[in-house]
Amino acid sequence: MRFFVSGLVAGFCLVASGSALALDTSAAQAAAPVLPSIDAAPVGQLPVGISPLSYDLHLTIDPTSDEFQGVVSIKVDLEKSMQGFWLHGENLVVDAASLELDDGTKIAASYKESAEPGVSLVTLASVAGPGTGTLHFRYHAPFNQSLDGLYQVKRDEQSYIVSQFEAIAARKAFPGFDEPRFKVPFSLTVTAPKDNAVITNTPQTKATELGNMIRYEFADTKPLPTYLLAFAVGPYDVNTWEAIPTNAVRDRVVPLRGVATKGSGSQLAYALQNTAGIVAVQEDYFGIAYPYAKLDLIAAPDYAFGAMENPGAIVFTEFLLLMDEESSLRQKRAYASVNSHELAHQWFGDLVTPKWWTDIWLNEAFATWMGNKTLGIWDPKGEFERATLRGALGAMNMDALANARQIHEPVKRNAEIWDAFDGITYRKGAGVLAMIESYVGEKAFQSGVREHMKRFAFKTATAEDFFTSLGEGSGHPEITSSLTSFVDQPYVPRVKVTLKTSDHKTVLQLSQSTYLPLGSKIANTGQWEIPFCASGMADGKPFKTCTMIKDKQQILTLDSKQAPAYVMPNANGAGYYRFSLDEDGWDKLIAVADTLPATEALSLRDSASAALNAGEMSADLWFDLMEKLTSHPAWDVVSAASGSIAGLRGRAVKRDDPALAAYVLRVFGPRYNNIKGDGPSATLLRSTLKRRLAMGGKDPAIREPLVAAAMQFVKLADDDSDAPALAPSDMGMAFSAAVQDKGKPFVEALKTLLETERNPAVRGAALGALSATNDPVLAADLRQWALGETVTGREALGVIRGQMGGDMADEGWHWFKENFDAVLSRMPDVRKSAAPNFGRGFCDADKAQAVQTFFTANADKIPGYERPLAQTLEGIALCAAFKKAKAKELADALASRG
Ligand SMILES: [Zn+2]
Repeated sequence: MRFFVSGLVAGFCLVASGSALALDTSAAQAAAPVLPSIDAAPVGQLPVGISPLSYDLHLTIDPTSDEFQGVVSIKVDLEKSMQGFWLHGENLVVDAASLELDDGTKIAASYKESAEPGVSLVTLASVAGPGTGTLHFRYHAPFNQSLDGLYQVKRDEQSYIVSQFEAIAARKAFPGFDEPRFKVPFSLTVTAPKDNAVITNTPQTKATELGNMIRYEFADTKPLPTYLLAFAVGPYDVNTWEAIPTNAVRDRVVPLRGVATKGSGSQLAYALQNTAGIVAVQEDYFGIAYPYAKLDLIAAPDYAFGAMENPGAIVFTEFLLLMDEESSLRQKRAYASVNSHELAHQWFGDLVTPKWWTDIWLNEAFATWMGNKTLGIWDPKGEFERATLRGALGAMNMDALANARQIHEPVKRNAEIWDAFDGITYRKGAGVLAMIESYVGEKAFQSGVREHMKRFAFKTATAEDFFTSLGEGSGHPEITSSLTSFVDQPYVPRVKVTLKTSDHKTVLQLSQSTYLPLGSKIANTGQWEIPFCASGMADGKPFKTCTMIKDKQQILTLDSKQAPAYVMPNANGAGYYRFSLDEDGWDKLIAVADTLPATEALSLRDSASAALNAGEMSADLWFDLMEKLTSHPAWDVVSAASGSIAGLRGRAVKRDDPALAAYVLRVFGPRYNNIKGDGPSATLLRSTLKRRLAMGGKDPAIREPLVAAAMQFVKLADDDSDAPALAPSDMGMAFSAAVQDKGKPFVEALKTLLETERNPAVRGAALGALSATNDPVLAADLRQWALGETVTGREALGVIRGQMGGDMADEGWHWFKENFDAVLSRMPDVRKSAAPNFGRGFCDADKAQAVQTFFTANADKIPGYERPLAQTLEGIALCAAFKKAKAKELADALASRG
């Protein structure tokens, strides 16, 4: 167990341990109940001693009102006698509180919120327990206005209520025990205005008219932690779809509905149409039926996240649900990817829940891995199968920060909980699971997963429980030590591979260390158990050979007579590590880069860029590889190479560097023109390269028609314009190009459009384009505009952040500091801790100090800011170190390639 326990005792009498006398005193005090002091609220887990057994929650929700009313009865188990205890509740006005013992005795109680947000003290009029009883609270509270808890959104003269309780916002909706380890059934009742739709986790069982309100009762939930409850109330459209049919593992149908704001219900058809297939793949994998009685997909009118896996009532941001067959492939894939992730959570997270936030990776790493795996089975031609690998490679630079979290990182304070929802948890976590799956084999891994689901269905589990299930279920208990070496320490392992051939024998000398970029402050002390596999060509035949690297240095002997033609030190890209080679090894591998499997080409691109960032690869060799990868058949390989080159902007060359634009045109122009067909692979590559050529390459042949179509779309084109209609997949780049080329009139047109446009894809494209302006006067105007009413807070932050990098970093930063309180007021509460990310646009060591000073001075406004700030400062320092060491070399190499 890696639970942090100091929070458990805060507020209670603490006695120094270690002497017989102290232990005696402690025992004596435990016998007499002690009332906790309001000034000593726990900052993490609640103390032991009282726990909920079930809830009966009745909410009265009128979305047009400013507040809601609640009555909650919580059946509790008092493990000892007590006169007071902590629970959760935030911004609640409690009008009545009492404890009713099972023998009928009623004890008056008071409720008081402490200075520690969300933690409240209940004091009893007399001592109670041990035994069971029922806590009663009658209360009211304002609707949250910041996308957290039970929150209110106004749209087109209508008011809607949506809930978002993860991680710790159920306490804003009702007093209770708001930690995932308390997993119990809920009985839910909602009273709401007659013309409103009301959705919770379970099907409605009864409706009773009460004047112009209706009291809706819902079926009792399965055991759930508080963070998974869901409510949506308002004039929503409810689109009832065909139920999900029975199959080999489920003998009941699952009713399926979509929920969206008034007038948008029909736009849910695409998402609903494609849900049953995803559910069926997952049921088949787990061997367990979808665990809940119904499934609703809810498009929230405003939302702080992508989506939330509430059992039976999954909430999404509108972009992920509102679409049709004509929508861009990018949007449809985003829907599939997120829906599959959230549906995977119905098992991982909902059916089996972590006990505490330290283990949230069990939810998120699994849902990421399983979501991607599902899509590969659901749509084998859909180009989903490398998503987990791309994600894991994408997390490695974050994992190379000295301030990186480990996957399984102790969460000690409530303020740290949000740190746990980062790229390490989701993407590295998923990549590590894929690595272990590759090592034990798909079938064995599936057996381990099924074993875990069976053991802990409707219960909670820890990481240790999972390791045991996986080891025993897969028949590979030895993998536990490899797995823990990746989840219980941060950073990316680097395997240096040196070839020695002698006496008809080739030996790979393997040496592991911690990957360190230039300027890194990481102590090179990491050691992993790395499932290592190399592939390549030797004696004219392909080979693959594997070993578990446990020591710092290890030898792997190849069964070949001659020196291999090349060695790829991460076969299928399956290992979560970076590799490096000597110059001869790189040369040989780069020579065949365009013929490698896509997984290996992706891994090679990452390791080569990592070597460049570590100062171990020349700019010339790196450019050679990127150009070679341009000829690779896989869309994501070419896309990754083009992204690497685009990433030089701001780090090695200026944003508008003409040499870079010319180079992008020369290298990617021919590849773009050679794309054949219209399958997913071709469509994805065409869209990526078109954007690179239009924006980075400034190719007039692509850019001018896009701008013309954008002008037509916003009705700025001449009447006789014969511009083509704007394709959904082109919208973002077309708007961006038009913002840059047409300036103010086009920007004004987009601002006008945003006043009424409700299509989330169009809004997203327009907002993204507004942050693409390179005109400082327009940028200044847009920042101010973003603080107004036309855009939501979340949209505003995108526009502002987009103008805080590159050439406009200084001006953007100055404005940000001046307007910090206004910017903060537009930030959802749960995102405020990440405010230091606004300093990430700098690549200059001198600026780090200014960023640090500013956020430290404002620390009280952004609780939990420590790690985001540390990572931001480190990112600036590493960028500056890279620029200092490599910018000139890269610029010279670029110039010589013309
Ligand atoms: Zn998730």
